[in-house]
Amino acid sequence: MNRINIPFLSLPALCIVLLTATGIAGQGVRIARYWAGKKAAVSFTFDDGSPSHCTIAAPMFDSLGLKATFYVNPGDAEWAEFRKLALSGHEIGNHSMTHVCPFCIVTDPAVLQREVVASRDSITKNIGVVPMSFAHPCCCSFSDRQIRAYVLVYYPVDRLCGEMYLHPDNIDKALRGELDTSQYHIQKDWLILLAHDVSDPGNRDGLRTTLRYANARQDSLWIGTYANIGRYVRERDSASLEVLAQTATNITLRLRLLQSMRPDWYTVPLTVRIPVNADTVMTDVIPDGQTVTVNYSDCYKKGKITRARPCGRPPRSVGGTVPAMRVTAAGIRFSYVMSADGHVLLRVSDAAGRVVAVPRRADGRGVDSSAPAHAQAFRQTGRRLKD
Ligand SMILES: [Zn+2]
Repeated sequence: MNRINIPFLSLPALCIVLLTATGIAGQGVRIARYWAGKKAAVSFTFDDGSPSHCTIAAPMFDSLGLKATFYVNPGDAEWAEFRKLALSGHEIGNHSMTHVCPFCIVTDPAVLQREVVASRDSITKNIGVVPMSFAHPCCCSFSDRQIRAYVLVYYPVDRLCGEMYLHPDNIDKALRGELDTSQYHIQKDWLILLAHDVSDPGNRDGLRTTLRYANARQDSLWIGTYANIGRYVRERDSASLEVLAQTATNITLRLRLLQSMRPDWYTVPLTVRIPVNADTVMTDVIPDGQTVTVNYSDCYKKGKITRARPCGRPPRSVGGTVPAMRVTAAGIRFSYVMSADGHVLLRVSDAAGRVVAVPRRADGRGVDSSAPAHAQAFRQTGRRLKD
């Protein structure tokens, strides 16, 4: 295998603000380090497809309206249960087909194809969403650049295998920007937590305590799935921001990614911070090269992000197109929309094209799996999906 540069690690930060002829417009406009101007980020990830992920972990996140990442091994997965998690807005990622150990020394192309590619296709077929991240199995992959390069041909982001335990102290480290990036963490302020089975009381309590601790710090902490935060980081570090015009009431701008970045992968909106008088307003923009005009009155302000509402371009459909599941026998259709805060939400339509359900909370920040319309849609489509 040829040596391939790994863009996730080597891309330089490239955020350019082009000034207009006046030299004033666009001054100080920049991409926020994390969504909504938050100071740090955390992803809760769970490996090996344990039943406790569905029965214990996911309900904890659901009760807070938060999303986690569950890595399954398609060679041995409980599809029905994990499909429910996907419908609730959680990320289902790939943890390799058969959990080959050690993974970092695999050189057989047929094995790599099965573990990285065929497994992706299996998740796509069984869950209905193309997995957007790959978690290397067996905790030795952080040093193997060639395997990572192979994986990153098929996934926008990969998660390395290291241990960062469920403990509030790690949240504080992320908020202070003191995470160790020498091997496992990609950013000093993006905490990637890794858990396996959480059925025993120690792990369960560790999860509950850490999650509550993180939840109480959402003003400065972005709690998001691995694929969403990982893609945000990659987009942020490679996007060019152009301010085309700016007035006292609005701004016209454009975000572009490197040509080498697949446009169907990098669809997480980036938050742009705009100084307006003594304040900062923020707007979320998908970095697809299209020109967007944003009225400040539609934006959210620094320190008031809980009242965020979409401004700039409205959310659009992204990814998740899966012919095998997109239209069921009853004509039920699935599509996916990206919310303003970067969650991928499922939309279910009936045969006439009427939207049956877009499961989300009233404030638009994620899925509410308890919504009656969602439950009904799931019962209906769940039956059909088994056909
Ligand atoms: Zn594992």
